Parts: sequence; structure tokens; C-alpha cells
Amino acid sequence: MPTPPVPSPSALHMSSAEFRRTGHALIDWIARYLDDVERLPVLSQVKPGDVRAGMPSSPPRTSEPFEQWMDDVERIVVPGLTHWQSPNFFAYFPANASGPSILGELLSAGLGVQGMLWATSPACTEVETHVLDWLVGMLGLPAQFLSTSAGGGVIQDTASSSVLCALLAARERATNLRSNTHGLAKCPERLVAYANEHAHSSLAKAMKIAGLGESALRLVETDDRHALRPDVFAQLVATDRDAGRLPFFACATLGSTSSNAMDPLRAMGEIANTNNLWFHVDAAMSGTAALCEEFRAMHDGVELADSYCFNPHKWMFVNFDCDVFWVRDRAALINALSVLPEYLRNQATESGEVFDYRDWHVPLGRRFRALKLWFVIRHYGVEGLQALVRHHVALAEQFESWVRQDPAFEVVAPRPLNLVCFRLRGSDEANEQLLQRINASGKAYLSHTKLHGRFVLRMSIGHTRVEAHHVRAAWDLIRASRG
Ligand code: PLP
Repeated sequence: MPTPPVPSPSALHMSSAEFRRTGHALIDWIARYLDDVERLPVLSQVKPGDVRAGMPSSPPRTSEPFEQWMDDVERIVVPGLTHWQSPNFFAYFPANASGPSILGELLSAGLGVQGMLWATSPACTEVETHVLDWLVGMLGLPAQFLSTSAGGGVIQDTASSSVLCALLAARERATNLRSNTHGLAKCPERLVAYANEHAHSSLAKAMKIAGLGESALRLVETDDRHALRPDVFAQLVATDRDAGRLPFFACATLGSTSSNAMDPLRAMGEIANTNNLWFHVDAAMSGTAALCEEFRAMHDGVELADSYCFNPHKWMFVNFDCDVFWVRDRAALINALSVLPEYLRNQATESGEVFDYRDWHVPLGRRFRALKLWFVIRHYGVEGLQALVRHHVALAEQFESWVRQDPAFEVVAPRPLNLVCFRLRGSDEANEQLLQRINASGKAYLSHTKLHGRFVLRMSIGHTRVEAHHVRAAWDLIRASRG
């Protein structure tokens, strides 16, 4: 058998004409998807293995046309999706996409730059620094986080990475860089960290990754609003010190995942500062609310923070991934994470005039994530973003009032912003069954948590296109699903 001719390398690529044609078709497809998504069952109905069973067992030997890829997207992928972009999605937290952010993501892929050093793409660094400085003002954060001060901001993939970087900077500050140089075995005292007992699990994970051990994380008791109790926190710090351990890090949560509880920043920050602890604020979801002045009370005491993060990829219409992380002392972060091999040396770095963001997080490489954030801010404007946050909080307030008016239900936690925690008056089992019935209907999707040991339903309202009628329909469905 003669071997088939090998195509020339240039013939293997997608031509510009083909890229244009399929690209336009793909944008049309996405626009249609976003217009129609609310009619699809929100929670995917597939069983484990269904998606893989639809795919061939081996990859194609030769090129397949775009139309076939998209047929398979419709046939295999779409039924296997839980539709996070549906306005009937009320589970977990919002993970918003929006037109401008999708375009920013596409442009970032199209430019394909690596922004690991200022020199490898100056615009990738400077647009990011500039937009994060804007955001300091937009959220009413203190000037210590501006790049023009000793601090500054960087985009991380997730809030999990931010808390890890905060922890590493804190570890090195507490051990005078001994841990980086010689390892924790050479640090005589056990380092101890503190957070709300409902703090996000990413902190426990970061303790493991940082080699500090999960058992060195003190989960501090909370009050009846699920906020950390500063008196208990102060007592734990004193006990650890007396026992010869080294308290070094505290994390406050603004908007806990379970119930949206707000830790008291000022009281916590004063204890942290007095005891020389690194004070990190995790505002992953709720930080977005600070766009509106009336929701900034949660920031009282934020100037005491060493670092702060929030996720535009949750409630600020920027598709995943985009977490913003600010530090008060960028040198502390850079000292903890910087390594400079010969092949990365360059004049700009040596001039000391530029930021090299590779020193501000774990990966070396980084893409141009700031584009999607910049596009979103430019599309909506500050006032547009504020209006949407207010709209979502008002919808949550309305939903909460319906729950309160119905004697069969109870609201079980305060509602600072856009999350309503509620339950059917009755057993945990009845509530679990209610949740299953709601989600199996495909008409809405809610998730749950446990508060004070009881099974609780969470109604999280913040989707890009959610309107009053979606929330009303969800409430009618919940009531009709009582059984
Ligand atoms: N912190 C809080 C308070 C959260 O709600 C979440 C996500 O649910 C996280 C951290 C983790 O977010 P990410 O997925 O960006 O790591």
C-alpha cells in the first residue's frame, strides 16, 4: 500500500477564511445559547459515564470539520451541562459570564501573549495594574492597596490561590524567610492560623499545601449571625502564644459561602495587628457589593488588612477565572515567591521600574486576563454595575419577604446581601426531599448547607440575566414542591 501524501504544514492549519467563518458561527451559537438557556433543564440530568459513552474511543486520525464538532457539542456536551448561565440557577454562588467578558476572553486567546514578565508583554501587566487601581476606588478600598503605594493588586485564577499566596507571604514574614531557605523543619515554633469556623475550605487546603498542617488552623467559634467571635479569637491567640506556638495569620470572611455571614473586620484586624498576624480578607463573592456605597459597612476596618481578595468571576459579570488579590506590602509577597533564573533576567526587571507579575503568584506563565475585566467595566460603567448589584439585592429582599410571609417556611440566617437561607418548618429529611424535587424538575436549581446542625436551602441571586419573574417562578416552584 502506498503511504498517503503528507499535507504541507501550512495546509494543516485553519485558514484565516475558515477561522472567520467558523468564528462568526460560534459567536452566533453562543448568543443563541445565552438567549435560550433558561428553557433548558438547569441541573444536568445525565448519569455518570453518559458523556464519555457518546464519544468515540479513539481520536480522529485526520481533520474533522467544525460542523461535526458542533453537532457533538449539541448532542454530547449540552445535555451534560448544568447551566450556570441560566437565570434559573440559584445554587452555590453566581458564576457570571457576560458579552463583554466573553469577548475579552476571546481577545486574550487571540493575542496569546504570556505576561509572566513586564518585558514579555508590557500591556498585559500595565492594563492589569491600571484596572486594579481603578477597582480600589470603585470598591472604596484603602489607598494602601494602590500600585502607587507600597502595595498593589494582581489577578489570580481563584480566591483559593489568593489565600495560598497570602499564607505563603505571611509564613515568610513570620519566619524571616527561614522557611523558604531551609524548610519549616528549621523553624522552631509551630505556626498557627485563625479563621471563622465557616471559612472557605480553600484555607484548610492552603495550610496543607504550605506545609503548615491543617491541624494548625484554628476554626474560631461564631455568634448567632455566624460571624467570628473576636473574644474567642483573642483568647485562642493568647493560649497558643502561652503554649510556645507562633500565631501568624488570620483570615476574615466577608460573605461566608454557607450563609453570607460577615466577620467583624475592625475587631479582628485590631487583634491581628496587635499580635503581628498577617490579616487577610476573603470577600470572594460579597466584595462586589462594595461597588455600592450603601453596602460598604462590611468594610469597616479594612485598612487593617494586609491582603484582600474578591472574585469578579462570581458576581461581577466576568467569566471564570478572575480573582483580584491586593496586598498592602508587595515586597512581602514578592520576597516569598520570587526566584530569578538566568533565562528570565532582563533590563526592565533590573531597572526596578516595572512589576513582574510572575513573582506575585504560583505559576510563571499568565494570560491577559485583565482584558475581560477591563471590557466588563467599560461596557457596564460603574453605574451599570452598581445598578445590577442593587437589582440582585432587591430581588433577594423580595424573596426573603415571601418566605417570611409563608408560615410553612422560615428564614434561618440574616440576609446581608443576595443570599437567602431558609427551610421548610419540619425535619431535615423533608427539606432534603424538597430540594431534590425542586432540582429534579429542571426548572430551577438551588443548593443547601447546614447551619446550627440543620439542613438549610440556599437561594443565591446574582445571575447576569435574572429578573423578578425568574425569582417569582422559583418561589412558586418551591411552594408547589412541598409535597
Ligand atoms: N472564599 C469564599 C468565601 C467563597 O465563597 C469561595 C467560593 O465559593 C471561595 C473562597 C473559593 O473560590 P475560588 O473558586 O475562586 O477558589
